Amino acid sequence: MWWFLCPEIIFGEDALDHLEQIKGKKAFIATDKTIRALGIVDTVVDKLRKAGMKVHVFDGVEREPSVENVRNGARALREFAPDWIVGLGGGSCLDASKAMWVLYENPKLRVEEITPMTELTLRQRAKLIAIPTTSGTGSEATWAAIITEPKEHRKMELPSKELVADIAILDPALPAKMPAELTADTGMDALAHAVGAFASTWATDFTDALALGAIKMIFENLPKACANGGDRHARERMHNAATMAGMAFSNSQLGVAHAMAHSVGGVLKLPHGKAVGMMLPYTIRFSRNEAAKRYAEILSSLGVSTAPGEEPAEALASSIEHLMKRIGAALSLKEAGIDRQTFTDALDLLVERACESTLPALSPRVPSDGELKKLFEYVYDGRPVDF
Ligand SMILES: [Zn+2]
Repeated sequence: MWWFLCPEIIFGEDALDHLEQIKGKKAFIATDKTIRALGIVDTVVDKLRKAGMKVHVFDGVEREPSVENVRNGARALREFAPDWIVGLGGGSCLDASKAMWVLYENPKLRVEEITPMTELTLRQRAKLIAIPTTSGTGSEATWAAIITEPKEHRKMELPSKELVADIAILDPALPAKMPAELTADTGMDALAHAVGAFASTWATDFTDALALGAIKMIFENLPKACANGGDRHARERMHNAATMAGMAFSNSQLGVAHAMAHSVGGVLKLPHGKAVGMMLPYTIRFSRNEAAKRYAEILSSLGVSTAPGEEPAEALASSIEHLMKRIGAALSLKEAGIDRQTFTDALDLLVERACESTLPALSPRVPSDGELKKLFEYVYDGRPVDF
């Protein structure tokens, strides 16, 4: 027996208008100051008021939200006592809104206690609407929240099937406000989700279709969305692809690229999309034998043929690197501005944090501690290592 979970999805032009039809009394918006400055919060507030709701805006979500940040938001939630929570923004806002929701419904629970085994009994007080303003994290579709423990530079992956939003609203007008670098970073995150989901040992017929569809859409539309942010068609396709990739990986899980990226994000403070994008070609090469058939399927759906004797992993990794060059993404930690000494000093901690993640267990090839160290060295400057 297996299962597939996802929210109700409202998408396309003017999807935000759906908010005017929501039935409820009070809506609490969890967002950040950038989204407010862009005027997106005002639009959402207006629509919720048209639905007859009282609205409270909490715009204090931090980038890479911490446990403390989540606790503060949960306090504001308890004071306002809404029956709807609206997570509005990039992955940080959506992840924070999920964790705040848990504490709102379970005042005695600690954020760290969110696990698949913990009964959270959500939806007694409120339901969750997720509105992404970037096209990448897929958090609007997933059943996990990524929250940072700042003292130990640790990113916690907090999973619970109850954490899937009730409604995800994908309005392509929102990501149209993203600058090119953020479009590139978040787009690479979406690609890493789709490739990771397809190569995962937990992949299913349902996740395969979504992952392959998303990979194709991202290859076709990410360069267009980066080159011309006003390309509405490319923006809409990327926005949908990011959620499709989210639906895929949420139901099949990710692998070592994400374990390494969470480690790098916590220890070296590199933005998630930038980090995970650069991990992707190296981790694909690492699992060249175990996932050869899966990588060949991706290449065939992209219409890319391999040269005689070329391994599918190498052809796919090269195609991804070519895409990254077109959108101006850094191909290595060195290119992203991390100096050698900082990297060398952090290497043991990077390996330790990546080993703590449960994600590598779902990889087509599970790395040992020593192999993880080699992988990080490989990602540092792209100099080939012997696996
Ligand atoms: Zn990701």
